[in-house]
Amino acid sequence: MTSPSSIKGLPIWRVFQAVLAAAGVVLLATLIWMPDIGIDLFWNVLIPVAPAVLVLIPGVWRNVCPMATIGLLPRHFGFSKRKAMPQTLRHIFLIISLAALLLIVPLRHAVLNADGPATALMLAIAAITAFLLGTRYEWRSAWCSSLCPIHPVEKLYGTAPAITVPNTHCTQCEKCVSPCPDSTHKMTPMITSKSKVEKTVGRLLVGGFFGFVYGWYQVPDYFGAMTMMEWTMAFAWPLGGFVVSYLVFHALMKILPKQDHAFLVRTFAMAAVATYYWFRLPMLFGYAELPNNGTLIDLTGVLPVWFAGASQLTTTVFFAWFMLVRKRKTSWGVRPAYSEAAAAKATPS
Ligand code: SF4
Repeated sequence: MTSPSSIKGLPIWRVFQAVLAAAGVVLLATLIWMPDIGIDLFWNVLIPVAPAVLVLIPGVWRNVCPMATIGLLPRHFGFSKRKAMPQTLRHIFLIISLAALLLIVPLRHAVLNADGPATALMLAIAAITAFLLGTRYEWRSAWCSSLCPIHPVEKLYGTAPAITVPNTHCTQCEKCVSPCPDSTHKMTPMITSKSKVEKTVGRLLVGGFFGFVYGWYQVPDYFGAMTMMEWTMAFAWPLGGFVVSYLVFHALMKILPKQDHAFLVRTFAMAAVATYYWFRLPMLFGYAELPNNGTLIDLTGVLPVWFAGASQLTTTVFFAWFMLVRKRKTSWGVRPAYSEAAAAKATPS
C-alpha cells in the first residue's frame, strides 16, 4: 500500500489527467460544431483503441479517464460530502450501468454513429452525472465503480493487466466499495460481494457480452429516418446474441468442474474482445462487409488483399495469449494506505 505523497511521478499523472479532461471538452465542441471530424475522432479512433487499453492497462485508464477526473474533482477540491454509498443504491446503479451499456451500443447504429451533437449530449450527461455523484459520495464508489456504463467492460476485459500502477486518485483508501475493482487481485465481473444483484449482473455480463459484440456487427449503420424493421434489427441482433451467448456460458458453468470456471470466464472475455477487433480493424480501413460501417480511411487499394485476414488472425492470437496463456499481473492499481477510519474496519478486498 502507498500514501499519496510517496507516489512517484504524481505531478505527471496530474498533468495527464488535466490534459485528457481538456481534450474531452475539445472533443465535445468538435462533436457539436464539426460533427464529421468529431464522429471520426470519437467513434473511429478513440473507441476502437479503448478495448485494447482496457485489456492492457486498465489501471492507467482508471487514473486518466476524463470522466473519472471530472467525477472526482469535488473530492480532490474538498467539497464532496463523502457519503458511504448505500447498498441498495449501488445495486440500482449496477443494474442501470449494464442496462445503459446494452442500450447505448445498439443506439450507435441507429443514431450515435452518425450524429455528433447526440454523441456530445450523451457524453455531457455522463460527465454531469459523474460530477454530481462526486459531490455526494466517497471517491470512486458512485460513478467509476458503480454507474459508469464502461465499468462492466473494464472488469470484463481487465482480467490480466500488463502493468499495475499506483492509484493516483484515492489519496487514502476509505474502503468506499468492496471489493474495490482498482485494488483487487485478478479482478473479473464474477468477483463481487455476496449480494445476489452483483453476482447476477456480473454473470450476465461475462456470459452475454461475447454474443452481444458478435450480434452488433451483423447490423449496418443507418442514416436518416429508419423503418420499424431497421430499429428492431438494431436491437434484436446484439440483444439476441447476448441471450444465446449467455445460455451457452450458463450451460458450460453447469457442466464444467468448479476449478475450470475462472478459465471459462477469461475465455468469454477474450472471445468478446477478439470478436470486436476481428470485425473492427478491417472495417476501419475500408474492409467492412456491411455498407456504411465505421470506416476511418479507405486503404483497400493500398493494403494487400490479405490485410483483413492477417489482422483478424493476429489480434485473435494476441488476445488469446495475453488473456489466457501468459502469467497474469495482480491488480489494476496499488491500493493506497487505509485512512484511520477504514483501517479500523478493513479486511483487504
Ligand atoms: S482504493 Fe479504496 S477509496 Fe479508492 S476506490 Fe478503492 S475502495 Fe474506494
